[in-house]
Amino acid sequence: MKKHNFSAGPSVLPEFTIKKTAEAVLDFAGTGLSVMEVSHRDKEFMAVMDQARDLFKEILDIPSGYEVVFLGGGASMQFCMVPYNLLNKKAAYLNTGTWASKALKEAKFFGEVVEVASSKDENFSYIPKNYEVPADADYFHITTNNTIFGTEIRKDLDVKVPLVADMSSDIFSRPVDVSKYAIIYGGAQKNLAPAGVTFAVIREDVLGKVDRPIPTMLNYKTHIENGSMFNTPPVLPVFAALQTLIWLKEQGGVKEMEKRNIRKATMLYDEIERNKLFKSTVKYEEDRSIMNICFVMADEYKELEADFRTFASSRGMVGIKGHRSVGGFRASCYNALPEESVKALIDTMREFEKNH
Ligand SMILES: *Cc1c(COP(=O)(O)O)cnc(C)c1O
Repeated sequence: MKKHNFSAGPSVLPEFTIKKTAEAVLDFAGTGLSVMEVSHRDKEFMAVMDQARDLFKEILDIPSGYEVVFLGGGASMQFCMVPYNLLNKKAAYLNTGTWASKALKEAKFFGEVVEVASSKDENFSYIPKNYEVPADADYFHITTNNTIFGTEIRKDLDVKVPLVADMSSDIFSRPVDVSKYAIIYGGAQKNLAPAGVTFAVIREDVLGKVDRPIPTMLNYKTHIENGSMFNTPPVLPVFAALQTLIWLKEQGGVKEMEKRNIRKATMLYDEIERNKLFKSTVKYEEDRSIMNICFVMADEYKELEADFRTFASSRGMVGIKGHRSVGGFRASCYNALPEESVKALIDTMREFEKNH
């Protein structure tokens, strides 16, 4: 049976990425070696790294003055790398979910942290607005897409201090005005590559302003100056990321992705609204994520939750169980998830409704 992969991360990748990576696992660029057993200093892999960096910049339309690096450690490592490199006295954080809270917690190791607003009071079911960012903050940190709670900031914010964004789960899902950000980072395993590589887009003029010494591996400058080759990079994930970038460009880039993502998300949200068995968990329509679509059973049908999970899985749906802090269901609809999978989920919801 065809599987429809709604996993939150690691998650669905383009067939193109999987095929090209599988081929390179057997024979990488005609070298007669697997991509898993070549030196990262070989010219064939250096070309992969260069091309990945260039395409990343091209597809996201990154202006000059910025560098892109590929690192290890996951987005979670960025939670400490950002303050290590940027926080002198004070940083401001918007608390919109589990990941945002974790980022905020790490920043406290380095200085004063102002939580400008939080939606924790209502289990992160909305994006706070009308808060004030202190003018003397070294930076303001946001999480553009809250993977667990299904809320998203889809507008590039205007703030007076350097803006830092965790875009782990919505990178390349829409066009971004990179010039509004000082740093954009994320784990690649949601919308780009298999787990193991982390990306960071860094405006170079924000670096070098803290007084503390920074350990070599945690210093962004090390990785910028060495083209992400200071130490052994995650070779296989970087290779796979390049394949996704090639695919993205061929498909029409982030504009086309946004169009498709909005279409897929709208279809599914419409069904959640229409279907009497389900309801959305996000408080305001404007905050709904187009990547992670969270829903629960309507109050009078709560006891059907386990039944629907079993039914959906019998129809080939994979990974739709909601995170334990929200419950219910979460359909992650990343770039590589075909519209056909969303339609299959909708059919499953309708069929289930008919049976009850
Ligand atoms: C998954 C996720 C993370 C954690 O990423 P790791 O690479 O596992 O450290 C952080 N932020 C967001 C928004 C995420 O979705």
